[in-house]
Amino acid sequence: MKKTFLFVTLMSGLIALQSCESKKEEVVGSNSTEAVDTVPLTPIVEAVGNPTDVKADPGTFQVKPLKYGYDELNEYIDAKTMETHFSKHYLTYINNMNKALKEAGNKSSNIEAILKSMDMNNAALRNNAGGYYNHLMYFDIMSPNAQKEPSGELLTKINETFGSLEQLKDQLSDAAAKRFGSGWAWLVVKEDGQLAVTSTPNQDNPLMPGVETPGKPILGIDVWEHAYYLKYQNKRADYVTAFFNVLDWKEVEANYNKAK
Ligand code: MN
Repeated sequence: MKKTFLFVTLMSGLIALQSCESKKEEVVGSNSTEAVDTVPLTPIVEAVGNPTDVKADPGTFQVKPLKYGYDELNEYIDAKTMETHFSKHYLTYINNMNKALKEAGNKSSNIEAILKSMDMNNAALRNNAGGYYNHLMYFDIMSPNAQKEPSGELLTKINETFGSLEQLKDQLSDAAAKRFGSGWAWLVVKEDGQLAVTSTPNQDNPLMPGVETPGKPILGIDVWEHAYYLKYQNKRADYVTAFFNVLDWKEVEANYNKAK
């Protein structure tokens, strides 16, 4: 009787142990599948601040208010990323640019003139004036109510140059993907009035001296990790695809009309 009891106890213990083990495996298995397939991989934190509270230190250049709330592009670019990007990165570029201009004795308030005459050896001015201009464009060409396609003269020019809007998007995605490390992908109007896709490293841009494809930017995609890492981690291509959903072609057309 005692032996039977001991046997039953042992067996049920073993079964319990086994089912515990297999449960553990199941959990581990499902977690690792999730970790590979699901975006986002980590919980996205909500934005807590308000874009209207973002103010630069006294200086030549100030913050241009964001035209939408941090959470309004949420489906494609999460609120926390927008908040950090606008209230920390963009703000820092402005403050540091103002300091660098002061140190260089540069009193200009014309950002394009500053970029075109850039001393490329002045790292502080190059990085921060570039950062200011590039982000000004980036935040301006995104919208929760984006016009999804170009129209009019810009559309005609895109079709002439690239074959179609889809082919232009492919070229921009390709430029964004091939930019090693941090930088930008651009659509520019060249000196001769033609459109071109190009990319630049760090916070450089096509207005600066000595760049591969000089021109006036009308569309810029930030491919620094800080622009997408919370939602997309290493998947830069997914972020670029998402970006096209919030890209407001109305703004790009306005930029084109000024640049051509
Ligand atoms: Mn950025």
